[in-house]
Amino acid sequence: MESDNNHHKHCGPDSKHTHCLEMFKRLSEYLDNELDDITCKEIEHHVEQCVPCFSCLQTLKRTVDLCKQASNKPVPEEFSRKLKEMIQNMPKTTSP
Ligand SMILES: [Zn+2]
Repeated sequence: MESDNNHHKHCGPDSKHTHCLEMFKRLSEYLDNELDDITCKEIEHHVEQCVPCFSCLQTLKRTVDLCKQASNKPVPEEFSRKLKEMIQNMPKTTSP
């Protein structure tokens, strides 16, 4: 059985993903506790509603932990680039 993806939807997931990218620019700072309370809550609020971001955050957390334990280095730039690619390749049907 194949489902058609041809029906038009009114909600625009693209703008939402742009918002996700903005979030991800701050995630490493968030994990380093460099952000103020308001921004932290903004991110937490977003990942509560956004499943892809939540799972990405979990992965990022784990990776950052490993990085810190291994070499005491900040997260490499290449890694955040990969994260952005991940988001761009995410399926657009995130809502149930
Ligand atoms: Zn998101």
